[in-house]
Amino acid sequence: MTREVEIAIHECECDICRTGANPEIARHHRQMNLFLSRLNEPQRRWYVGLISQKPGGPSDRELSKITGLDEKTIRKGRQELEAELTDLPYDRQRREGGGRPPAEKKTRR
Ligand SMILES: [Zn+2]
Repeated sequence: MTREVEIAIHECECDICRTGANPEIARHHRQMNLFLSRLNEPQRRWYVGLISQKPGGPSDRELSKITGLDEKTIRKGRQELEAELTDLPYDRQRREGGGRPPAEKKTRR
């Protein structure tokens, strides 16, 4: 029986997940890939580009194994973030009335 809806979720290929050495990390990688599967292409590379800059985080090579994205793609995402995404179309995601109200100061004197 084939499923009608099949969402491609990349399976992590890092050593930790392959050997099952650390279930917690494996779970984290699985969730990362689940999350990535719901993003569009640019969002995916920005997200991974962002993680790649996390101090002490995984290298591009490792991230490529984890997420299935190309190292080149990760680099590109990082560069786009560094350029503050200025050349890219602004995709408005916020709906009127949705989300949090603007932060207000609650200091009282
Ligand atoms: Zn992994």
